[in-house]
Amino acid sequence: MEFEAVIGIEVHAELETNSKMFCSCAVLDSTVAKPNIAVCPVCTGMPGVLPVINQRAVEYALRVALALECEIAHTSIFARKNYFYPDLPKGYQISQYEHPLARNGHLKIQTAEGVRQIRIRRVHLEEDTGKLTHIYQEEEAYSLVDLNRAGVPLLEIVTEPDMHSAEEVRSFATNLRSLLRYLQVNSGDLEKGVMRIEPNISVRPPGSKDLGTRIEVKNLNSFRALERSVAYEIKRQSSEIQQGKPILQQTVGWDENLGMTVPQRTKEEENDYRYFPEPDLPPLVIEQEWIDSLRNSLPELPEAKLHRFMTEFGLSEYDAGILVAERSAADYFEEVYRYLVESSREEIRPKVIANWIIGDLFGVQNQFGVPIEQVDITPREFAELILLVSQGEINQKTAKTVLVEMFSTGRTAGEIVADHGFSQISDREYIVDLINQVISGNPAQVQEYLKGKDAISRWLFGQVMQAAKGQANPQVVEQELESQLAALRQTDGL
Ligand code: ADP
Ligand code: MG
Ligand code: ZN
Repeated sequence: MEFEAVIGIEVHAELETNSKMFCSCAVLDSTVAKPNIAVCPVCTGMPGVLPVINQRAVEYALRVALALECEIAHTSIFARKNYFYPDLPKGYQISQYEHPLARNGHLKIQTAEGVRQIRIRRVHLEEDTGKLTHIYQEEEAYSLVDLNRAGVPLLEIVTEPDMHSAEEVRSFATNLRSLLRYLQVNSGDLEKGVMRIEPNISVRPPGSKDLGTRIEVKNLNSFRALERSVAYEIKRQSSEIQQGKPILQQTVGWDENLGMTVPQRTKEEENDYRYFPEPDLPPLVIEQEWIDSLRNSLPELPEAKLHRFMTEFGLSEYDAGILVAERSAADYFEEVYRYLVESSREEIRPKVIANWIIGDLFGVQNQFGVPIEQVDITPREFAELILLVSQGEINQKTAKTVLVEMFSTGRTAGEIVADHGFSQISDREYIVDLINQVISGNPAQVQEYLKGKDAISRWLFGQVMQAAKGQANPQVVEQELESQLAALRQTDGL
């Protein structure tokens, strides 16, 4: 029997504010900062101190909640979630429990059956914990604690159990990441731990409306791990049930090397958090005016941009999807397009620009490991490169070489082409000359061709291009070679 998978997700996203959630300590990149340099009595939980709500963090949280089309609570309440752990010096985490900042939103995902909405159950604000590093040595084992991260604003986003496959989970996670990046509240760096995704997975017999017992997966630091762990759990749980074994509610970790989940703790070992309202903070009251002004200032979001790119530029859903996944890539495309239209030296279809960016610019970017927002080639300079090709100055192949050099030297396409004498040769006389040399230099191959081996013409084309050091205009070479060979066929021989 095939079981139906049911998956809901919890996401924790750090908010990239300047200071922490309840104190003025700086928010640092905890993967590079020296440990324990951004700490104070508030975030280390000294007695007698008072937390203060970071307004910027609330603003960022509201932006996300509005982008997810949630209902915003005019009054939300911070609560203490009590538990003991070495990365939590206060002995409790300030979070929101019964009265979260926002509820009932949704986010669209792409599925095999088309676009579908995943319901967002709640969005709430809390603070991050510190970070532990466990050291195992021959003689001793110990743990180091870094409290730079303790008190960093953290947004928790919880979905309804609306997903049914590993692919849907991945689609949700990538769309949410893209949204957070558009809103400029989180870098989306899973491997740095600033965005953490925890899927809850259960399976049930097809047609059943009841929820099965769920397993929650922790420690996922890539989309690949997310997708693999969900697929693994669906398979494992289905086979257990088939064998008549019960599923126990559990938290598991993902072991990337073993490619399997490993039990961490069962429901019985869960803490009783003894939530109660945080006595040191007033209720968080949000005026409608603020909500309205934040809603009006939201940028164009990925979904809207996708549709605009398809209708305004006639791009395919696939191309538009790749471009809008990153706001900076979408902006780059539009700037190149606008420049080409304004310079109006040559009509270039949006599809051609999209190909250049997706195929070539992204390719070189990956090769150099540089994210698009750090690319040194301005959209204008990139447009000039495209123009050189469309005007027949250089061919596609040379353009790729030029692009790599633009990337590594920061020089313009024009300078590079002039310097290397890369200009494409379209001079027919010169090309015909090369063709004749190749034909007379390879009589055996030409005979083969005349006997009917058509593929030889491709080889001859290659020889001519080589003789021209790759700089001949391929269309001209093709035309001339064809007519020379046709002439030979007529006279049937050399
Ligand atoms: P907790 O906060 O204790 O982890 P919640 O009830 O808030 O538990 O659920 C957390 C996440 O698990 C939510 O995304 C929810 O949709 C999902 N979830 C809850 N029950 C199930 C289930 N039986 N199968 C799959 N997902 C579930
Ligand atoms: Mg949970
Ligand atoms: Zn502090």
